[in-house]
Amino acid sequence: MDRKTFLKSLAILPLTTSAMKLNELNKITEPLGKTKKMPVLFLGHGSPMNAIEENEFVAGFRNVAKEIPKPNAILCISAHWETKGTFVTAMEKPKTIHDFGGFPKELFEVQYPAPGSPDLARETKTLIKKTTVGLDDKWGLDHGAWSVIKHLFPKADVPVIQLSLDYSQTPQYHYELAQQIKSLREKGVLIIGSGNMVHNLGMVAWKQLNETFGFDWAIEANEKMKQFILSSNHKQLINFRSQGKAFDLAIPTPEHYLPLLYSLAVKEESDPISLFNDKAVAGSLTMTSVKIG
Ligand code: ZN
Repeated sequence: MDRKTFLKSLAILPLTTSAMKLNELNKITEPLGKTKKMPVLFLGHGSPMNAIEENEFVAGFRNVAKEIPKPNAILCISAHWETKGTFVTAMEKPKTIHDFGGFPKELFEVQYPAPGSPDLARETKTLIKKTTVGLDDKWGLDHGAWSVIKHLFPKADVPVIQLSLDYSQTPQYHYELAQQIKSLREKGVLIIGSGNMVHNLGMVAWKQLNETFGFDWAIEANEKMKQFILSSNHKQLINFRSQGKAFDLAIPTPEHYLPLLYSLAVKEESDPISLFNDKAVAGSLTMTSVKIG
C-alpha cells in the first residue's frame, strides 16, 4: 500500500473505530482516571515472619485495609530496595523476592502474585522531575512490600509497583522527590512507605524477639517522631540527624526510616493522621504505623 492509498483508507475508517483509537491513545497518556483522593500509609513491617504469623500487628494491617477504598494500584517504597539513582518496577508480573536468610522454609515458599503496572511505572517516571527515573525489569516485590501488602489485599488482585530508594541522596532530596508523586493519590493509587521508624538490628534483644517492649532510647525516639508526625513538623523529621542520641540509636542507617518521609511528603495539610500498631518489639524496633487521609 502506497502512502496515498493508506491515507485514503484512513479517511474511510468508520467513526467508531477512530473514536476507539482515540480512547486507546488516552489510555496510554492517562492510564488512571481521576478518583477521590486515596489515603497514604506508612507501615512498620518488622520481622519477615509477620508475613506468615498471626499477631496483633498483622491484625492491624488487615483492619486498616478495611478503612480504605480498594485502590486501582499500589506504589510501595520499601526499605529493602536501595539503588544508585531512582527506579520504578515496570514489569507486567513482578516476582516475589525472598530477600532474607535464616528463616523457615515456609516463609521462602510464600508467593504474592500481584500483577505489576507498566502504565503506572511510566506515569510515575513522568511525574518525577527531580531526577530521571529508570524503568526496572529485574527487581519485583521484596519482603518490605509483599510481607505487609499480602495482609492488606490477600487476593493479590491489586497491581503493585515499587519505587527504589537512592542511597546516595539526602533526606531532604527524598522528601522533595516524593512530593512530586502526590497527584497519584487522585488516581486511586495507594502510596505505602514500608520500613520501621525505630530500627536497630544490632541492638535487638534476640531472646525476646516476640516480646512487645522497647529500650528507653527507642521509646524516647519513637515518641518524639510521633509528636512531629502528628503536628506535621516534617522539617524536624527530615533533620533526624540533629535530634540527638536517641534518634541516632533509632536510625543507625536510614533505609527503614526514609519510607516514612515518602509517606509524609504526599500528605495534604487537611489530611487527618492516625497511628496504629504503635508498639515496640524486641527492644530496638517499633512497629508504629501511620494512616494519612
Ligand atoms: Zn525490613
